[in-house]
Amino acid sequence: MTNTKLPFVNKAQLDALCAKFPTPFHLYDARGIAENARRVNAAFAWNKGYREYFAVKATPTPAIMELLRAEGCGMDCSSLTELMLCEKLGIRGEEIMFSSNDTPAEEFALAAKLGAIINFDDISHIPYYIEHVGPIPETVCCRFNPGGKFSIANRIMDNPGEAKYGMTREQIGEAFRMLKGAGAKRFGIHAFLASNTTSEAYYPELAAQLFRLAVELRRETGADIDFINLSGGVGIPYRPGEPMPDIAVIGEGVKRAFDDILVPAGMGGVRIFTEMGRYMLAPYGCLVTKVLHMKHIYKDYVGVDASACDLMRPAMYGAYHHITVAGKEEAECGRLYDVTGSLCENNDKFAVDRMLPEVNIGDTLVIHDTGAHGRAMGYNYNGRLRSAEVLLMPDGEGRLIRRAETPEDYFATLDF
Ligand SMILES: *Cc1c(COP(=O)(O)O)cnc(C)c1O
Repeated sequence: MTNTKLPFVNKAQLDALCAKFPTPFHLYDARGIAENARRVNAAFAWNKGYREYFAVKATPTPAIMELLRAEGCGMDCSSLTELMLCEKLGIRGEEIMFSSNDTPAEEFALAAKLGAIINFDDISHIPYYIEHVGPIPETVCCRFNPGGKFSIANRIMDNPGEAKYGMTREQIGEAFRMLKGAGAKRFGIHAFLASNTTSEAYYPELAAQLFRLAVELRRETGADIDFINLSGGVGIPYRPGEPMPDIAVIGEGVKRAFDDILVPAGMGGVRIFTEMGRYMLAPYGCLVTKVLHMKHIYKDYVGVDASACDLMRPAMYGAYHHITVAGKEEAECGRLYDVTGSLCENNDKFAVDRMLPEVNIGDTLVIHDTGAHGRAMGYNYNGRLRSAEVLLMPDGEGRLIRRAETPEDYFATLDF
């Protein structure tokens, strides 16, 4: 069997990039990101107010945010520094969705100052906001958690009853009345019920549930429902052979639910928002790393110059990330390896029992689908320094968009 899932760069391109930028580094494909964003916007073009709010936590890098903003995306923030990134880029007002939880007052305050749309995660945050920040904005959103299990066609997809997010059905009605009493004029409803799902039925099913809820809440509370935020959760195919969910099919499915439920209720002006991170970025980024050592004990180990500090998903979730050995794309995958980093943690493995072509010291490995929740989840365990980020421009040039950390960065917080 040869490798069927190919990276967006070939060996010659990688050699040129590695001559300029020391490995390891995360590489992003500017053209791929822009083309995908256009497909997303086209899929929801039937809805006049549609907007994708890119989940900044997935890839909090200014050059990436600006690329998406140029395609019309807003930004979904959930922390102080994510809001500050927007502030520095001149992104403000309704271009920002603030979907946080367990939120400190100073973060609400910055969101308010920037004019972001505030998405309340809990009913108790409403009096907290009024006490610590000030008057309720005219446009607000509440996050819903239906509890129980979330299933599509009798298949359980996720377990909202165990999730810390959102308000119960009773609370969201009460929250709308409370917010209305405090001066809110336009309301949004948000829910995130399944993570990394490649099912094209996810958004349509979630949308149908939220559309029915919107009709009920308007009837119960008289609230003017301005938008429905489908949040994130749309997955990508990490494994070879899995299909990429077709966003056009997903958009059509949401439209059907919209036409069935909201239009007959006289709510055809409701805007649809999404907050995708993974679907917008994951396939358009990869981690480029070189082989430092080959070790043969009870198993065969490929030791690379990246570690879980650069990409935590395999260590944290046992997540699969495909690996290509540059220049050996056509070679037989006849060898069984564990691909490891250098952390003193045995879970620092990018792959366990992976069939690859024969690997040699100095080979360049491409770890796929790291564009979202990759560099962003990095950490500094073992004093490891996090890697650089490079943007592959449409003309083939690599642009450094974040330098690698240095020992000075690591020591900057210490008191000697
Ligand atoms: C993480 C997150 C997202 C993005 O999720 P993806 O699975 O990357 O699409 C969107 N909204 C909120 C509130 C999140 O926490």
